Amino acid sequence: MCGALGGLVLAALTWTVLTRTGEPPVDAAYLAVSTGAAAAAWWADRRWPQNRRGRHPWVPIALTCTATGDLVWQLTAWTTGSPPDVSVADVSWLASYIALSGVALTGRFGGRQVRGARLFPVLDGLAALSVALLLCWHSSIDSSLLEQGKSTLTRLTWNSLPVLDALMIGLLAWRVVLHGRVRPAAALMLAGVVCWLLGDLGWLLTTPAADGLGLRHAGWLVGITLFAVVPFLPQSRVRNPGALPGSGHGPWRIALNVAPFIGPVLAEVIGWARDIDVNPFPGVVVWTVLLAIATVRTRALALDGERAWAAVRSQARRSDALAAHSSDAVAVVDAAGLLTQDSRTMSDLLGRPAPRGTSLPDLLAAIGVDPADVAAALTRARRDPGAPVELELPGGHAATGPVWLGGRAVDLRQDPDVGGIVVSVYDITARKLAETELAHQAFHDGLTGLANRSLFLDRAEQALRRAGRAGTAPVVLVLDLDGFKDVNDSLGHLVGDELLKVVATRLAGVVRAGDTVARLGGDEFAVLVEDPAGEGPAGVHDLADRLLAVLVTPVDLQGHSVSIAASIGIVTAEPQSTPLSLLQDADIAMYRAKAAGRAQWVLFEPAMRAEALHRIELERELAGALEGCQLRLVYQPVVDLRTEHVVGFEALVRWQHPTLGAVGPDRFVPVAEAAGLIVPIGRWVLAEACATAARWQRAHPGTPLSMAVNVSARQLAGTSFLADVAQALATSGIQPRSLTLEITETALVADPTAVAQRLAELHTLGVRIALDDFGTGYSSLSYLRQFPVDVLKIDRSFVELLSGGGEDAAIVHGLVQLGRTLQLEVVAEGVELPVQRDRLRSERCHLAQGYLFSPPLEAADAELLLLAAGSRAVAPR
Ligand code: C2E
Ligand code: CA
Ligand code: CA
Repeated sequence: MCGALGGLVLAALTWTVLTRTGEPPVDAAYLAVSTGAAAAAWWADRRWPQNRRGRHPWVPIALTCTATGDLVWQLTAWTTGSPPDVSVADVSWLASYIALSGVALTGRFGGRQVRGARLFPVLDGLAALSVALLLCWHSSIDSSLLEQGKSTLTRLTWNSLPVLDALMIGLLAWRVVLHGRVRPAAALMLAGVVCWLLGDLGWLLTTPAADGLGLRHAGWLVGITLFAVVPFLPQSRVRNPGALPGSGHGPWRIALNVAPFIGPVLAEVIGWARDIDVNPFPGVVVWTVLLAIATVRTRALALDGERAWAAVRSQARRSDALAAHSSDAVAVVDAAGLLTQDSRTMSDLLGRPAPRGTSLPDLLAAIGVDPADVAAALTRARRDPGAPVELELPGGHAATGPVWLGGRAVDLRQDPDVGGIVVSVYDITARKLAETELAHQAFHDGLTGLANRSLFLDRAEQALRRAGRAGTAPVVLVLDLDGFKDVNDSLGHLVGDELLKVVATRLAGVVRAGDTVARLGGDEFAVLVEDPAGEGPAGVHDLADRLLAVLVTPVDLQGHSVSIAASIGIVTAEPQSTPLSLLQDADIAMYRAKAAGRAQWVLFEPAMRAEALHRIELERELAGALEGCQLRLVYQPVVDLRTEHVVGFEALVRWQHPTLGAVGPDRFVPVAEAAGLIVPIGRWVLAEACATAARWQRAHPGTPLSMAVNVSARQLAGTSFLADVAQALATSGIQPRSLTLEITETALVADPTAVAQRLAELHTLGVRIALDDFGTGYSSLSYLRQFPVDVLKIDRSFVELLSGGGEDAAIVHGLVQLGRTLQLEVVAEGVELPVQRDRLRSERCHLAQGYLFSPPLEAADAELLLLAAGSRAVAPR
């Protein structure tokens, strides 16, 4: 706004001066314009932020010098009437040229980083200077051009003004057009200097009388005004400092280069037109200078050109070297896939020549890449010119193994420098193999190489989907090894791993090719039979039998012959089945198989699911039973049938759950065994039973009192069991012989060698071993000899038979005889009827337990029984 207002005022004043020069008010207006211009320039220059200003305020300084000169001159004119030819004013004016050359050389027009930015303005200035000097020379010797009688200083000073104008023009001209763009500030400066030159020539060449309108002033004032505008313009910025060599040699520059040559010609022509005898010598000198300048400039141009070519050649060599030494094989092919030039890199990659004209698909076919794949890639590239198409081409031969090529193809047929489809490929075989390996690892079990759970679930998912369409129902078998933990515990994990590998191989050998065998984790395997119809009728049952049978042969592991068995759960998919539900259901059935005595298969039935849920609930609740003091022991007396005296007790655990109520050991002990909770529970039972026995022995010193504790197979196999027994004995202080550990027959069968070893260790502690539920298991006589057993407990099921007659009693007779032969104590369990008691007596079985004598009693009640006179058992009938 201020700038526009100032401009208007300047223009108005300029107009006044131009039309009415020579009168004091008009002279004052001239002064106002020149000082106003200086002031405006200063104001405008300060307005810009530091980074957008010129480096030096050259324009305001130049205008200040001019205004000072004008002021001095005008004051002298007003005071003396006629100012001297040369005065301080001239010094000030000349100084303004110094400032102007500052603008030209360092000014705010941009282009300082352009090549030749220093040399070219100097050359331009020199050319302009020499032409101007020549013109001045001619004008000064021409008497008609200049007043005679002036001193040399005056003539020198006056002539120097147009000469300096010309120099400025030379310095500024090259800046006007840079990088093909006109710089407004430089253009204004140039226009201003041209106006000054006209003004100065007007001053030199015309008389005041002839210049009635003050045209000489016009040039100066317009020039000043144009200069004053420059600081208002923003500083030019060079967007491309590292300009390419050869830039800045457009027609404008060429014109500038040759323009000075017109100077001497013009001088000759003017001299000839005015019929002046021109001295040719200065002209020759100026021509020589101009030629020298032109030579230097041409040389610079040539150097620029050479530099540009060198850069291009270096770029080309660099591209070649990069292509030659990169791992990529590059070929340029035409639309038909034929090489448009030899490709050394391609021949390096393929190990055969790749000359121009060969077909790329055929070339790659040599390493087993399908030509159709290559052709398809080229077609895709052609469809979208310029856009790179990623390639992944499988290949390879049976003899050499698989090969993978990666890379890209770009259709650059439109690019005149390329003119073809650029195909670059490189060997990605190693990466591909690694990826395949990783994918295999992600879906396979590292130990056995079988499918893992993820792959199994994935296959099951697919099978279910296919089944939905084909109407078949896939079958899942979950197989858990029996007694694997014992192998791991006794022989170590390495042997355990070996065993798992053997099992995996055997299982995989039994199924059909289309079926999946997976290791789900630990010792749990699964088989997916996608199309059970292919197995034939009852085929799945056969398969389960085959799976069990294949494991029967003992495995020889580091000198140990390990026999292994498995429990199998089988489920057939239903429409609503999911992979996970199949696994869960098969798992439930598998647990049934375990509970039913292991080494067998069980078909899943929906009712099992509810039981399993209940089982899971029990397991969860059981975890807190010990801490919650929900467990207690009851004691069932063992009676001597000869005296009917109580000679001992069997401790039986009870669980009173706050919401579930009383849960019998038949229900929770198997759960505790499966969950591993039987170890801490058993430890507690041992300690509690021993403590009770100690208390009772102290209270009734005369009565020989034994305490029997039930021990599960899982407890026996545990590493801490021996220590637990020793601890219970030590803490309670009872005699080891008064503690009997009851072990079921089935606990012996799983791993006879290990159990025999453990029982021998227990025996050395002094405790007695009872074989519980004797007769229900499969133990043979050889077993009995192998184990250090002290007591046989005849199972209730045999005692029950005693109520009948004849045949049935023979079994009990046999069992009692066996015990006697082996010198073992025999206890009959579950005696409910007097007839059973009497038959036992007659068989000379001396010890018995059963509801006939007493049910299991709370500790307090049991002790009351001890207190009873003669320690007779209750209610002998
Ligand atoms: P078991 O070792 O054979 O224990 C005898 C079971 O027979 C007891 O059942 C007992 O109450 C019951 N019984 C005793 N006399 C008679 C009778 O005349 N007629 C009938 N029908 N039954 C009689 P209970 O207490 O329910 O125990 C069941 C099983 O739970 C036990 O069988 C034992 O194997 C297991 N068990 C009990 N307590 C423990 C324990 O602390 N640790 C372990 N590992 N197992 C235990
Ligand atoms: Ca028992
Ligand atoms: Ca029993």
